[in-house]
Amino acid sequence: MLHKLQGALSNRLNWQFSVAYGVLAFLVNYYALIPLYGNLSIHLGQIIVLVCLITRGEKPALVTLFISSLGLYLSTGSLPLVGLSIAELLVLMVLFRKGVLLIIADMMFWAVLGIPITFTTLLFVYDINSSDFTQVILIKQALNGLLSVSLATMLRAFIPYTWYYSQISANPPKLSKRIFELCLISIAIPSLIVMLVLSDNSADKLEKQLLNELDIRAEHLRERAENYQLFHRKAVESLADTLQKNSSGDSEHELMSRWVERYPGFITMILTNHQGVVINGVPSQSFEKLLQRPPSDRKVNDRDYFKVARDSGQPFVSDVFRGRGFGNDPIIAVSVPIIRDNTFYGIVEGSLNLPKFETIDNLGGMDSLLVVDSSEQVIYGSHDLQLAPLDTVTIEENSQSYSNAIKSLTLNNDKVYNYKTVETSNGWHIYILSPFDELLVAYRNSFYALLIGIMVVSLIASRIAHKFSQHITRPLERLVTYFSSNKIVPAKPASYFSSQEIETVRSQLQQAQRVMIDFQEQLKAKVDSKTEELVVLNAELEKLSSHDPLTGLLNRRGFEQVVDTVFPLACRNQSNVTLAIMDLDHFKHINDKFGHNAGDACLITVAQTIEEVLQRDSDYVGRFGGEEFVALIIGESVEQHSHLLQSVRRMIEELTVEYEGDDIQFTISIGAYSLTNQFDMNYDKMLCTADKLLYESKESGRNRMTHKSQ
Ligand code: GH3
Ligand code: MG
Ligand code: MG
Repeated sequence: MLHKLQGALSNRLNWQFSVAYGVLAFLVNYYALIPLYGNLSIHLGQIIVLVCLITRGEKPALVTLFISSLGLYLSTGSLPLVGLSIAELLVLMVLFRKGVLLIIADMMFWAVLGIPITFTTLLFVYDINSSDFTQVILIKQALNGLLSVSLATMLRAFIPYTWYYSQISANPPKLSKRIFELCLISIAIPSLIVMLVLSDNSADKLEKQLLNELDIRAEHLRERAENYQLFHRKAVESLADTLQKNSSGDSEHELMSRWVERYPGFITMILTNHQGVVINGVPSQSFEKLLQRPPSDRKVNDRDYFKVARDSGQPFVSDVFRGRGFGNDPIIAVSVPIIRDNTFYGIVEGSLNLPKFETIDNLGGMDSLLVVDSSEQVIYGSHDLQLAPLDTVTIEENSQSYSNAIKSLTLNNDKVYNYKTVETSNGWHIYILSPFDELLVAYRNSFYALLIGIMVVSLIASRIAHKFSQHITRPLERLVTYFSSNKIVPAKPASYFSSQEIETVRSQLQQAQRVMIDFQEQLKAKVDSKTEELVVLNAELEKLSSHDPLTGLLNRRGFEQVVDTVFPLACRNQSNVTLAIMDLDHFKHINDKFGHNAGDACLITVAQTIEEVLQRDSDYVGRFGGEEFVALIIGESVEQHSHLLQSVRRMIEELTVEYEGDDIQFTISIGAYSLTNQFDMNYDKMLCTADKLLYESKESGRNRMTHKSQ
């Protein structure tokens, strides 16, 4: 009862432990994410789940896993990631139960299940088809697992014994395995961390370099864009100035044509009167077409470039818009008011030919240029962006940055770019877009270098660990082999793996073995002599069990054993068989008169006498107990048997036993029964018949033989 209660209590405590571990794992997964390359981070809640598995057993570890996964889900929001982490831990649990080292088990998981599962998930669930990114995430996940397992294994060495659940089945591993594991971990963890730091640094460096390049280029491009704009504004200003003075005598049209020729960045130019009606324009064909249309169609007084220039009296550069009347191209209008004698005369406007912005796009390589106006309408986009002027771009800045320092965005075409943006003085935005893939390839390469590094280090570490564990366990195993195969422990160290401690153990064992061997030899000698004694005793016992100690004849048991073999044989051979029972007459009187010892002496003499007469190999004599003897006579004729028995009777009759001065005489009665032709009778019946015949001899006066044949 008390035992049960204790069991229940310790069980409850175990569950409490697992919940505590779970909460800890939850917190680690939720708050203590270790950042790694931008939005990738390492979550180490797994370590606590593994510690729970090692110290508290499988079921509590499942509870811990559940709570910790919740934390992981809340922090990453990624179900597949949580699923993968659960799958990894479940596989670890199964392999751990089978005695596989955790770190080896984790490597097995990633090789056989983890990588294919992650790959498929990323491909089908996330639709991430950039193989570079897939590879980066895969390797990151594997690193995460390996780091967790290594750290958990390392922690294992420091966990106090009291933290272990009392009922956990402790199946101690082989010493060499333990040492191998510890060596591997102690080499793998530092190298893993150093490599992670180094590669993170190198990724950082790479990003900084890229960022720096982008900065310089962006600044340069802004200058170019501003200069371009300034250059054309100045051109329109100088045209306005010339038109204002109109001192050369050239017609307005001629002047404008000259300007368009001189500044090929303009696609058209117009001149309006103070009401905003176009009164001149180049190229000439466009203007002539315009002139054919009603004057209302030639009005631009609703356009900003007219209104702002008129109202502010300052040059104006518009956002991008679609031209009207003078062709329908998307344009940027640069307008300057013409003021003569303090009176607003009209404006001169030059429309910038947007594709000509190409002249500032000197990025080359993989990078692209995007120039948008203040309302995010495209002024210019590098060819590969496939954006036309006036398109509206939606620039989505990625909330989850893939890099530590550089921002990334997704354009309409779903392509991810790292970018840098700068604003010009008139509110345009200049974007330099560097394809994300470029950085990713660098990440991937750095990750691969990391993974290959880890593999090489692990290989070297496992070799070193193996050698190291050999140094410790080989000499021990050797000693054990010597002991278990009963070979003599060598007096000298036989292996260069040996050490002082091992040598001490060896010499102690050697001494112990010597003592043991001596002891064994003594024991063996003792056992041998005892065995000999036992053999003699056994022979005596055997004899005692079948012989009568007083007369040395077979006793009843011994006689019947003999009969069991010879009687059936005699019957089968149809030899004549006689069974005789002989009983001393009035022996009680002899005992009474001369004493029991005298009686014994008589019995011995009777036995000798019977043996003297019945001495052939086929004669068997026994003492049935008391003063009753028995004889089985086989072969020759029945008459001869009768003769022999009569001789016994007569010799006893004539016998005088001298005992302590007394002369003792006595007689014997015999009952004998012979088989002569029918051999179907068994021994017991014969005995019974012989006994009856003995009785007859007694009845008819004793000292006689009653003999019957079949
Ligand atoms: P009967 O002629 O009818 O056979 O008379 P009996 O006295 O011989 O027969 P009974 O069976 O009455 O007595 C047998 C005696 O044999 C009794 C016992 O004291 C004696 N006796 C039996 N075994 C031994 C023995 O080992 N040594 C001695 N000394 N006497 C024995
Ligand atoms: Mg008797
Ligand atoms: Mg008797």
